Amino acid sequence: YAAKNRTEDIIQYKHELMTSTPESLSLLSELRQAVINDELRVYLQPKVTTKDQQVIAAEALVRWQHPEKGLVPPFKFVPFAEQTGFVRELTKWIIRAVAKQWHDLQMDGQTFRVSINLSTRDLLAASFPEFLAKTLKEYNVPASGLCLEITESAIMDDPGFAEQTLAKLSNMGFRLSIDDFGTGYSSLGYLKRLPVNELKVDQSFVFGMIENNSDRMIVQSTIDLAHNLGLDVVAEGVETEAMYQMLAELGCEEVQGYLIGKPMPLDAFITWREEWNARYGSN
Ligand code: C2E
Ligand code: MG
Ligand code: MG
Ligand code: MG
Repeated sequence: YAAKNRTEDIIQYKHELMTSTPESLSLLSELRQAVINDELRVYLQPKVTTKDQQVIAAEALVRWQHPEKGLVPPFKFVPFAEQTGFVRELTKWIIRAVAKQWHDLQMDGQTFRVSINLSTRDLLAASFPEFLAKTLKEYNVPASGLCLEITESAIMDDPGFAEQTLAKLSNMGFRLSIDDFGTGYSSLGYLKRLPVNELKVDQSFVFGMIENNSDRMIVQSTIDLAHNLGLDVVAEGVETEAMYQMLAELGCEEVQGYLIGKPMPLDAFITWREEWNARYGSN
């Protein structure tokens, strides 16, 4: 299966097309049309430091502005795109869209980094690192300006190959992050070997940590593990002051969640950041 993925997904893609139901076939053609008709949107969600409330990065999250259905969230089409292989097109679209917006997001001082979510298919496509390099060059975006988020399960599909690709991406200067940490079948041995910079504590543990002692222990252990391996920690799904306080006390350096800001289109994000910086100050 992984070997097929490596060869550009074509065989798998065609096979799934032939065995698809009418509904999924029409979703696939609608998705293709969505790219052609420019119906996909990038929403940006801020990441803030717990030390001094600086907005240092954002995560790019895809939305589908459907002509009849309105704004469609990713859970309605990203898993499908992953199954069919269409996610490779989706990722390319996102990378281009983020590259176009990247300069508008920069401020004086340090580089403002944007995170992009990758899927297994991207990681296992031999041509992906070159595509990334070529596209960023076209828009004059440095590799250090992007963070690539990868889930544990995407890595564990073919750990050997994923390790090679991640090493390549790391050498190219990208920041690498393990998304939804704690929910997949990760191997701590791999974590040690992979050139990652950051762990994202999954939101399910963050939601549970106030009332559930086990969730709190998982969050605390993840933060300690990350620090002992020299990695930064981001907590996602921070919805309340209580969660924020607890994470800050446990030493989590970055937070992301509705308490800080929801995912927003570029213009709204820039306005939001100005207001945030006016309130908390920016270095
Ligand atoms: P993720 O990468 O783990 O992203 C975090 C999700 O949590 C986002 O959902 C975000 O809007 C949501 N979230 C953030 N803060 C809070 C909070 O305080 N409370 C709650 N309840 N939710 C919060 P979203 O945008 O619906 O995306 C869901 C998932 O879809 C993402 O999970 C990611 O796995 C996938 N996804 C989104 N965009 C892309 C993309 O461009 N490419 C790929 N391959 N996957 C994507
Ligand atoms: Mg993510
Ligand atoms: Mg996540
Ligand atoms: Mg998630």
